[in-house]
Amino acid sequence: MARASFDRAAALHRLRNDDFDVLVVGGGITGAGVALDAVTRGLRTALVERDDFASGTSSRSSKLIHGGLRYLDQREFRLVSEALAERQRLIENAPHLVTILPFLVPVIAGEGTRLRRFAPALRAGLWLYDLTGGIRIGRRHQRLAIDDAIAHVPTLARDRLRGAFVYFDAHADDARLTLTVARTAAAHGAAVANRVAVEGFVKHADRVEGVRMRTTDTGEVFTVRARAVVNAAGIWADDVRALDEGAHPSSMQPAKGVHVTVPWSLLRNDLAMVLPVPGDARSVFVIPWGDRTYIGTTDTAYGGPLDSPRSSAADVQYLLGAVRSATTVAIDADDVVASWAGLRPLLRGAGRARTADLSRRHAVHTSPTGVVTVTGGKLTTYRRMAADAVDAAQRLLPGRGEPSATKAVRLLGSEGIPAPAAAIPDPGPPPRPTRSEHLAHRYGSEADAVDALARTIPDGDAPLVPGLPYLKAEAVHAVREEMAGSVDDVLSRRTRALLLDRDATAAAAPAVATLVAHELGWDAAREKAEAAAFAEIVAAERW
Ligand code: FAD
Repeated sequence: MARASFDRAAALHRLRNDDFDVLVVGGGITGAGVALDAVTRGLRTALVERDDFASGTSSRSSKLIHGGLRYLDQREFRLVSEALAERQRLIENAPHLVTILPFLVPVIAGEGTRLRRFAPALRAGLWLYDLTGGIRIGRRHQRLAIDDAIAHVPTLARDRLRGAFVYFDAHADDARLTLTVARTAAAHGAAVANRVAVEGFVKHADRVEGVRMRTTDTGEVFTVRARAVVNAAGIWADDVRALDEGAHPSSMQPAKGVHVTVPWSLLRNDLAMVLPVPGDARSVFVIPWGDRTYIGTTDTAYGGPLDSPRSSAADVQYLLGAVRSATTVAIDADDVVASWAGLRPLLRGAGRARTADLSRRHAVHTSPTGVVTVTGGKLTTYRRMAADAVDAAQRLLPGRGEPSATKAVRLLGSEGIPAPAAAIPDPGPPPRPTRSEHLAHRYGSEADAVDALARTIPDGDAPLVPGLPYLKAEAVHAVREEMAGSVDDVLSRRTRALLLDRDATAAAAPAVATLVAHELGWDAAREKAEAAAFAEIVAAERW
């Protein structure tokens, strides 16, 4: 597929002037997936996101493309099987973005869930995971000798280690995956724009026939004509339903999840790990990411403001406690170099006291006026959710469009890139990616464009944030080609600098504001205000 133009001004022009079959509200992974599914069925499709792509939950996940081993404990066999099938499709359709990740599961004396505490129960769970679809990754789980486990993670507490297993799942930068799905939808012909909020519905004879919008940067108000609307607004989906139905349905129970980042050198885990949480039935993931490791996640019911979930000192201690109890590292809050908090858009479940026990399934609801709402689900299952939502939208559009085709739609950048293979690496520090490996992993077959830009613009090859692998050219590319419109877009989502090193990113932000200002024609006052706005975002992630 050719490189796509991802032009906001052109998309806004189309939104004001064209008629659409399907208008998608929300530019998280679900909305981006819906837009791609709809446009590849031959439907005239538009997508609007009120802030930035993936600025909601879809940039704040654990970044695992997985079936979810723990959902087997909850007997969610169908969910796991569906998610594992989707994992495999993503490995094939986005091989540049998805990495296969071996997970070490230590059996630790006296701690954890039933599954984690007893080797035979754990082994049975891993067999079930393989049989439910895990095996499609090309390797089944295996037992690891204690010496081998220590070789891969020298900081594990040997005196408490009773055994270890390795199984395989996958990892992807969630915000980049979301952006790539949205760009792929645009490349197939969808009109896609960020910073456009839905504020109301236009109805005729009790059927929706349009949506009222406001651009959140300039305040322009206009109406978009659309025969069907898909509400994919994540934890805000009930708010959008209320605009249509007149009453707030309260169908969701947001659950907060926090992650913290520490230097890789502290834990030296060359495999990802699943560690039990002392005194809780849950486990946490410990995931190497370049020369950092992140630890997550908490899972607590949340009743605060949806726009600004924050990590708390108690969240951080919960995560570090799990690491302390399985390793010899006296890790504490001072070791944390970054953190992020997100809200899971879970469906309210009768009789389930803990959010960790609420199902990760999704639901599709069609209102009497013709608004299809898709809620729940996971990053991994976005394609399936999107197909179900567009099936429902298509029922409102008799005679329009084909069946879903996205099982075989490859994402932009995947051209010529083979699917990654599952393997256990040799023990030792993760290899430092070269400049071209770094670009290939982020842009796939589109990396040449960024490489050429880095060689053309002044200082393009210099680091964007000292100590992190991103280049200044990537910020410029983000503005020119990926619809980035703020310092936060560049440092939180187009790159993941803020999640990897909060203080270094905060220090680099004024220079990044200058770069973005130059591209977008901001004056000095705007540049200062944008840098200050980012400083506030950073300050909010201190606990
Ligand atoms: P969102 O990403 O929140 O997108 C909704 C979008 O709608 C937002 O960008 C918002 O700005 C926009 N919007 C809202 N109102 C309007 C409006 N009026 N007009 C226009 N736009 C609007 N899943 C996995 O598969 N693997 C994992 O490892 C994993 N880990 C997770 C860890 C945590 C801590 C959390 C919180 C979730 C995790 N998930 C994981 C789940 C996954 O991240 C979510 O299911 C998914 O990101 C939800 O995407 P979404 O598009 O539905 O919602």
